[in-house]
Amino acid sequence: MMVERQTAAELPETAGARALVYSLGIEGRDLARWLLARGATVTMADTRNAEQLEAAGAEPPEGVERTIRGELLDPQGFDLLAVSQSVLRSDPNVVRARELGTPVVSQMALALRLCRGRVIGITGSSGKSTTTALVGEMAECADIEHLVGGNLGGSLLDRIEEVPETASVILEMSHTQLQYTDRSPEIAAVTNVTPNHLDQFSWPEYVDLKRNILRYQDADGLAILNADDETSRELRSDVRGRLAEVSLAGPVAGDGTWLDGDAIVSRQGGATDTVASTADLRMRGRHNVANAVMATAIAGAMGLASEAIADALGSFPGLPHRLQVVGRAHGAVWINDSIATSPERTVAALEAVSEPAILLLGGREKALPLDKLRAVAGERCRAAICFGEAATPFARAMAGAVDPVVRVETLDEAVAAAAAIAREGDAVLLSPAGTSFDAYPRFEARGAAFAAFVAALDGFEEALS
Ligand code: ADP
Repeated sequence: MMVERQTAAELPETAGARALVYSLGIEGRDLARWLLARGATVTMADTRNAEQLEAAGAEPPEGVERTIRGELLDPQGFDLLAVSQSVLRSDPNVVRARELGTPVVSQMALALRLCRGRVIGITGSSGKSTTTALVGEMAECADIEHLVGGNLGGSLLDRIEEVPETASVILEMSHTQLQYTDRSPEIAAVTNVTPNHLDQFSWPEYVDLKRNILRYQDADGLAILNADDETSRELRSDVRGRLAEVSLAGPVAGDGTWLDGDAIVSRQGGATDTVASTADLRMRGRHNVANAVMATAIAGAMGLASEAIADALGSFPGLPHRLQVVGRAHGAVWINDSIATSPERTVAALEAVSEPAILLLGGREKALPLDKLRAVAGERCRAAICFGEAATPFARAMAGAVDPVVRVETLDEAVAAAAAIAREGDAVLLSPAGTSFDAYPRFEARGAAFAAFVAALDGFEEALS
């Protein structure tokens, strides 16, 4: 069935085609290489100017005919438009391409058409990377042929065509990648759908992008939804094939995985099996229990043995910059959760930390509601240090709920302010609720800078794990 749907005839004509590629980033370059290898002439365009592109190390691959820097070129006169996920589908140039009848493709759209193996797609507002990596670890422990990719940055098109039919391809799919897809994976998992990225999309548009992960499934497809999450539950009515669900609140109605006390229990085709205990997990936090339960459901649906699933759950340490313990200083444990670029994620982090918290909030704000963060911080934080571009709105949101609230300019000043307040038994948590873009190119760079500032504190001791 999948093979039939992935016939080459459905791929855009590339030999001799005049192709335009938007973005000189990793995805744009991956697309350009793919198009060049198939006989297209390629023009690339990026809104960043020459200086910004040089700083980002974004050079066109060899063979690209023309490169436009500082603007996206009008698609008129091209046979094909290939876009990076960073280019929104509402961009006037993309809208114009559609009006002109020019095919628009993306890395993920092509990957789904080209892949001969079984595709497992994982989306959600949070937990995508952790769940994807964990399922990859389970596949590794089960010793099955597999590839992990998607939003993890690497070039996908280079690798996808070599994947044999017998392999499983485990892909993280963000909502921006789902903008351009017209295929769905055979197993489609949604971890949760909560307000995020509302600066780029309206809430209905955002939910609709998530829906794309299961929209094109057939009766053989399997959707795995989170029964604890309201919007994820609403996607039940969009399921075209089979449905499985996950829950931390007890048994689900049909197939799926849930928590019974400490036990992670799965049911498949009527057979129930206790796979592991949450006590065996290495990752911190209730949200990581949710990720473990979802990963268990996915791996079970893939047919992996319970022993392999349990092995992976017991050994997976979590991903960097996500509640990562940097070390100890001034009596406190210092935790890097730089990935937390929305208030909802900071709430998840605070709920995962049992110690009294000194919370570092800051970066660039996305105009998201702050009331839940205020309430949870009020219960759990001993202090809030607000830094960066959004220091003022964050400090305003914390005022009256947390005491003291300290305002500083930069992240290193925030670390120094936290060190001055920290005492035995505290956790100092960088879980900033804003993006890094006011001061750092990516959240990883901000997390690395935080770790370096912390490592330079008096009496710093590195974490053992
Ligand atoms: P994503 O790939 O969706 O960005 P990650 O797995 O990288 O998600 O996790 C990023 C952060 O999101 C975590 O550090 C945590 O704060 C939060 N998070 C992760 N999983 C969940 C979950 N299942 N529910 C709520 N928040 C979560």
